[in-house]
Amino acid sequence: MGINTEHLKRLPIIDILENRGLKSQMKQYKHQWFGPCPIHGGDNPRAFVVTPSKNLWYCFTQCHAGGDIIELIRKLDNSTYDQTLQYLSTFTGHETWLKSNAVHSVSDRNTYKPFTQTLSIDQNQWLLSQKGIASEMANLFQAGVYSRKGYLNNCLVVRLHDISGNPLGYAGRRLNEHEAVKFGKWKFPPQFPKGRILFNFHRIKHRVDQAVVVVECPWGAMRLHQLNIPAVSLLGTHLSEMQLRILSMVPQIVLMLDGDLAGRKAALAINMRLRSHTQSDIVMLPEGQDPDDLCDLDLRNIIRPFFSHL
Ligand SMILES: [Zn+2]
Repeated sequence: MGINTEHLKRLPIIDILENRGLKSQMKQYKHQWFGPCPIHGGDNPRAFVVTPSKNLWYCFTQCHAGGDIIELIRKLDNSTYDQTLQYLSTFTGHETWLKSNAVHSVSDRNTYKPFTQTLSIDQNQWLLSQKGIASEMANLFQAGVYSRKGYLNNCLVVRLHDISGNPLGYAGRRLNEHEAVKFGKWKFPPQFPKGRILFNFHRIKHRVDQAVVVVECPWGAMRLHQLNIPAVSLLGTHLSEMQLRILSMVPQIVLMLDGDLAGRKAALAINMRLRSHTQSDIVMLPEGQDPDDLCDLDLRNIIRPFFSHL
């Protein structure tokens, strides 16, 4: 299937555990990490050991088993070998991402200081209307062009909130395409805990008794919100353990990631993780199309099977 398993086996076990919010219960002693076993779920703090130098793990109490990262994910997710490779391959090329977007433990939860000030955003909505986002939506989401000096200069910004709706700061989509190619499309505040955010969740949390659409990018969530369809954005293609916990409470998830290779791979991996908790389905977008590239009619038609009110 074209996946380089040797490369996957070098993905640091401890970083994958951190990404899943499991490292916070572990402690380092000399060259190893110890903690309760995340597979059988006991509470012995020395049951499970990870040796980063060898990138291997072992459970000394109930499982009496160990191995590499592939074996660990197979056991954690109860997934097949192929599903595990699919999941892990979504991390390759994102090794630095893994660390910076990890779910932080309770103790370092305060390393990010929320930026609560309201930025003055350019009312020129041309770029947003190109994405089909009406000015009322732009106002509601506090999105627009930021052209003053500073970190978000020359970005199309949108305000970020925690799941309760407290403001955390802004994300910015670089408008200079040369910089976007070189440094990535999006800018987040330093140490921003992306894995603890589910963009737009606080606006739809009273509606999670029905289906919720999950997209990569805020624009897609805004477009769907505008059509009265509950939607959240992952701010990327990775599902953190915290996002998984929230989405597991929703009876039906509709994954609508971008119509590119990264989006498709991520949708498969995320679907696999969600499926052991709730009903989850993938809608594939046409090649090269993001949700905000589609017209309202197409968006509605794709989503209609999951919503009775459309
Ligand atoms: Zn165990």
